[in-house]
This record gives sequence, C-alpha cells and structure tokens, in this order.
Amino acid sequence: MNLTALAQLILLILRNLNLKPRKYELKDIALALAYSLGVQITKIGIPPSTLYYYVKKVGIRRRREKRPTCPSCNSNRVIKNGSSRGKAKYRCKVCGRTFYNTLKHRMDRKQRERILKEYLNRMSMRAISRVEGKPLTTIYSLVKRIGAKAFTSLIILRGQLKSFVAKSTVFDEFWTYLRVRHGKVRADLWIWTALSDGVPFYESGDRSYGTFRLLLSWLPRSGVNYTDHYCVYQVLDKRVASKRYTYIVESHNSRCRSHLARLARDTRAVNRSQRMVEYSLALLNIMYPHVFSREITPLNEIYLKGIQYIRDNLI
Ligand SMILES: [Zn+2]
Repeated sequence: MNLTALAQLILLILRNLNLKPRKYELKDIALALAYSLGVQITKIGIPPSTLYYYVKKVGIRRRREKRPTCPSCNSNRVIKNGSSRGKAKYRCKVCGRTFYNTLKHRMDRKQRERILKEYLNRMSMRAISRVEGKPLTTIYSLVKRIGAKAFTSLIILRGQLKSFVAKSTVFDEFWTYLRVRHGKVRADLWIWTALSDGVPFYESGDRSYGTFRLLLSWLPRSGVNYTDHYCVYQVLDKRVASKRYTYIVESHNSRCRSHLARLARDTRAVNRSQRMVEYSLALLNIMYPHVFSREITPLNEIYLKGIQYIRDNLI
C-alpha cells in the first residue's frame, strides 16, 4: 500500500467527519497526515480494501433517530424491522406487533369513506392499497372494522323487521368459494338469499337444509314464497316453485357480483374467510341501499329508514 492510497483514505475519513479547515485544503491536510503516519502503517501490510471497509465504518456518523412507540401497547422497546416501499417498519419487543410510523397513517373521515366506496365498487383490497398508497393491512383492518359494525347493526335491524308481514318472498342461493380459485384447498360457499318485499336477507354456509333453516329464522312471515325447484324448499308452505318468479333474485345476485371484487367471476380477488363475505355484503347493503321491489310496503319502508340511520352513524 502506497502513500497516495493512504492519503485518499484519510481524506475520506475527514470528509465523513464533516471537517472544514479554514486555511488549508482538506486534500493537503490528508496528504500531510499520510506522510506523518504513513511509514508505520505501510509496514503492517493490511490490504487497502480492508482498510477502506473500516474507514467507512468509522467515517459515517450514525445519528440515532427517534423511534415511534408501539400503537398496541404504547411500549418504547421498539426495534427496526426492515422496510417496505421505502418506509421503515418497526417491531415491538413486548407484544411482537409490526407497524409503520403510525403518526403518518392517520386517515381522515373523507379518506375512510372513499376507501370503502372503492371497495364496494369492485376494487380489490390490493388495488386500493396501491391507489391510496396505504399498506394492505390498513385497508384490510378498516374494511373489517367498519364491516363488523355494519354487520351487527344489520342484525339488530333484522330483529326489528321480524314482526312485519311481507307480501311475497323470493328465495335463491348463489355460489362462491373460499381460499383459492382452483385446487384441492378450495371450499365452496353458498350464499342463501331471500328477498322479502325486496328487502335482502342472507345466510352463508353449505348448500344444505341446516343453512337454509338459519335463513328462515330471520325472515318475517310471508304471503307467498317463490322458489326454484331445489328440494330443500319443500318445507315451505304457500310455495310456488317456478323459475319465472326468481328473476328478481338473479338481478340481486348480479348486483352483488358487480359491486364486490371478491364475488366477481373474472378477477384474482378471493375470499379468505366466510366472515369477510358477510361483512362485505352488510357494507354493500348499508352504503348502497336498494330495495328489489317496485311497490312500497311497510316492511321495505321501515327497512330503508333503518338503513339510513345506520348509514349516518357508520363511519
Ligand atoms: Zn407493543
């Protein structure tokens, strides 16, 4: 190793230490230092690349940045845990939660509402995450939180509707799947729908009588029941089995499929859990209320009023 290489390295250290000598050039000082130290260091015979490595380690002054506290347990025992899309991630050593610098992730009401509307207009959660520049987990937890609220509010509303009498009810079931589109782990999920005077009721599960019975327990009494020829419906009295009357449910089903990416037929979006299907349907019914009937009856009038009240207090 010669003296010029040593001078270069010393220059690197001095620059990294942010030294600004007034009278002399930094280069000259480095050269002078190299001359005074040089004889001894060159005798040791350390290769320049090794020296360069340690010079870089010494030269960069590390500033300790302020770390955020854990949003779950408020602990400050937080360590850095990699990064995603240029943003540092942190992990709490107490509860194990991974998070971003949470101060920057606060969403206002407007943005939350926009995200939910995007979700209900056939955008997948990943697409929303890319458009809004928010992590996928943020979108997921928002939809889940508001969806759970919508779902429970709807259950309470349906309990109140049970005392009414509907003129007619139309039944149908439509199919979707859980986990993956193709392959062995795919599980079928049937969504049973009943429209009492156009007011939608749901139950999801398998295609057996057990699920249908759960749906029946929600419904108000009805004057006529229109179904298709599926055998489970034989338990209903005042039943008319004909495909002619179930067209109205088909329009409902196609509305669900066109609003929710998870139910659509030609997307990569999939359902991961039955619960999220139920939450999403509840969200759709509250954010975009619609009654599938041309005439106004006491049942669907009260339903729309109840929905309006839930909608005002949802987000
Ligand atoms: Zn924590």
